[in-house]
Amino acid sequence: RLRSHAQTQSREYARISPSQQDSLVGTDDQLFSDATHRLTTALEHVDLPEDVLETLKYPKAQLGVSIPVRMDNGELKIFQGYRVRYDDTRGPAKGGVRYHPGVSIDEVQSLAFWMTFKCAALNLPFGGGKGGITVDPKSLSRMELERLSRGYIDAIADFIGPDVDILAPDVYTNPMIMGWMMDQYSIIKRQICRGVVTGKPLAIGGSVGRNTATGMGAFFVIEAMAPKLELIPEQTTVAVQGFGNAGAVVAELLNKVGYKVVAVSDSQGGIYAPQGLDIASIRKHKDASRSMKAVYCDGSVCSIIEHDTITNEELLALDVDVLIPAALENQITADNAQQIKAKYIFEVANGPVTSAADAILVESGTTVFPDILVNAGGVTVSYFEWVQNRSGLYWTKAEVQKQLQQKMVEETETIWQIAQTKTISVRTAAYVHALNRIGEAVTAKGTRD
Ligand code: GLU
Repeated sequence: RLRSHAQTQSREYARISPSQQDSLVGTDDQLFSDATHRLTTALEHVDLPEDVLETLKYPKAQLGVSIPVRMDNGELKIFQGYRVRYDDTRGPAKGGVRYHPGVSIDEVQSLAFWMTFKCAALNLPFGGGKGGITVDPKSLSRMELERLSRGYIDAIADFIGPDVDILAPDVYTNPMIMGWMMDQYSIIKRQICRGVVTGKPLAIGGSVGRNTATGMGAFFVIEAMAPKLELIPEQTTVAVQGFGNAGAVVAELLNKVGYKVVAVSDSQGGIYAPQGLDIASIRKHKDASRSMKAVYCDGSVCSIIEHDTITNEELLALDVDVLIPAALENQITADNAQQIKAKYIFEVANGPVTSAADAILVESGTTVFPDILVNAGGVTVSYFEWVQNRSGLYWTKAEVQKQLQQKMVEETETIWQIAQTKTISVRTAAYVHALNRIGEAVTAKGTRD
């Protein structure tokens, strides 16, 4: 029922006037329809009133904006930006802002949908939101990037707020950009508004440990699961697709405790060494040279690690114990799911495995640990940052890490337990867990009728 609704949904934007619809409709609504498919599956295992289902079928509100930017050469360029508030029953919407050439309303909707379930799965007092700008940030100068980021805030300022909808980093956005966004919002509101953005630089109200939180959260999930899955670090091979903020950190943390990380990649391709890579040194080189290609062409790394170069496709198909997609959505699809040999997939990216691929992986015996649990460390420390901004009392790194670990381990164990008891996939269990919490909030709030 939900699925058929989702298919028509992109032409029926809830609470958006018909004249606004056309400009918001992406080229296809494949991703969103696939995202809501997970909900349909989970609904079979929960007993919730119709009100809850009806509420969760629609994004609560969404905004599409054109952002004018004066380029360094004097030319005026218009960029398309979006913000989607999917649901705020459990609290203000929360979610990152993505800068990528592939950003579309369909993608932002899906990401906002996932944030809703992610925040509920971790029991954060937030709903779900997401934003994005269709841009290749690597093609912009620093000044152009700043003008674009401030322009985005100018355009969406009335739509967001510390108690309404809170931004954060996502793919190709970082603390520097969050700092500009917080500053611009504060200029508009004529008061310092720290709580409107998380993932800020420490100097203006960021939290220690936020930058590494997504990777560290994923590490805590894997560590909590290791005894149950009988994973012995020294005998466990790992491949990581994506070497950004999340992928690089989880790869290094796993490597540090003994896991054999045999392959890593970025958008340009990857490196593979069956004896295991030294992730700390690769990270250092990648930070300096900015590309994996440059890392493996760099003499100093080549000389210490013997390795082959591989494509992203090849990396996904490696015969490893643990596969960690940490890049973008739609990486493991019906087309390549048959080639996956990993026993376990931990989704550090949002939406890397499609639902059609999920079904194939179940058949072939691969267990998938879902994004809404595995990558929730980022938003969890975002929550800690927001709490610190509101209280004015700042935590130590040890405190942040202890609280993060506690939350990740507790929710991992509960979700695993649900999966075992109901004999359902871990993904469905995570949705069931989140849905129960959202359901309780929908019912508690009432419907004004
Ligand atoms: N962009 C991250 C995510 O997808 C973090 C969001 C946040 O911190 O609000 O979970």
